[in-house]
Amino acid sequence: MNGSQQTFIQKTMLVAALWLMLGSSLVSRAADAPSPYRGSVLEFGTIIDISLWGVDPAHGDKAIETLERDFNWMHITWHAWKSGALGRINSLLPLGGEFSAAPSVLPLILEARELSRASKGLFNPAIWELIDLWGFHTDVEPEGPPPSAEAIAALVKQHPTMDDITISGIRMRSRNPAVKIDLGGFAKGYGVDRAIETLRSMGIDNAIVNAGGDLRAIGRHGKRPWHIGIRHPDTPGVIAELDISGDESVFTSGDYERFYEYQGRRYHHIIDPRTGYPATASRSVTVIHDNAATADAAATALFVAGPDEWHSIARAMGIRYVMLIDTTGTVHMNPAMQKRLKLTITPAPKIIISPPL
Ligand code: ADP
Ligand code: MG
Repeated sequence: MNGSQQTFIQKTMLVAALWLMLGSSLVSRAADAPSPYRGSVLEFGTIIDISLWGVDPAHGDKAIETLERDFNWMHITWHAWKSGALGRINSLLPLGGEFSAAPSVLPLILEARELSRASKGLFNPAIWELIDLWGFHTDVEPEGPPPSAEAIAALVKQHPTMDDITISGIRMRSRNPAVKIDLGGFAKGYGVDRAIETLRSMGIDNAIVNAGGDLRAIGRHGKRPWHIGIRHPDTPGVIAELDISGDESVFTSGDYERFYEYQGRRYHHIIDPRTGYPATASRSVTVIHDNAATADAAATALFVAGPDEWHSIARAMGIRYVMLIDTTGTVHMNPAMQKRLKLTITPAPKIIISPPL
């Protein structure tokens, strides 16, 4: 294992440890209730922590094994540059001819296209080439230097979008040779939705599937709601807490998830498709929504949108709860989000409440 792989794994462990810490401290507060049954799976480049309430250990083990196998399948199938179903699509799309795409990935592409349209192209999964140029398509810790301005401009000029792709049944083609699909801003959410579906089909109605801080929770934690934390963009702690009961997803996109420093500047993995550079106006964006796929895409889109545009894009995407932390540390929220969140940082940050969504 090289040094950068080690750092990546250490970072991943830190995120997981944070969640386990938060989880166990909350469990010990609920003296009336037994602990949830937990397991974890290493997939999508992160630790996926699964908490199940009210299941016996044998059924819990079976559920976690089933999810482990399925997450592994999803990872291979939806991987942008390995030899799975999406990898094959990406090698055929630039050729311009029509081909049959694997049905295992088509629903994601169709849904991602709708979300991309709703986000006015700020969530743009057609920019694989740009993400690759920036060096974020790697299983190890990315490293600089950043690409040249000319190389970035040349790709931005080709304007790859999801609307360049035509799909008829399973037949697919792109009229723009610069289009390759990267589901990195969305597949984790889509996968978490599938995992929740699987748990429900196994008769489990109280659960959290938490992929490195991005989660969907269903049902309750015994007699009380699920209680979760949102990670601070700078320190290994939480910035806010909230309760969830019923069925909701909480997804955060931040500039701290994947980045490299080069000559004193941070280059992170969320790219503004309009400029071709990492988006500069946000530190992190948290979205609550009923399904995880939309929450994931929206967190990425609103991160790119920044403090000036997040409100209109959230409306267009049908999102009702948003918290955005800008580069000065100011917290932007809509009133409904403010009602639900308890900010835990001191000193209290400057808060700007938007009109309702
Ligand atoms: P994370 O997966 O780290 O939680 P995101 O959901 O925001 O964070 O996804 C970031 C990933 O999405 C990047 O690594 C890249 O693969 C892809 N991506 C980057 N910029 C965009 C964008 N503007 N639209 C769609 N996908 C993007
Ligand atoms: Mg996302």
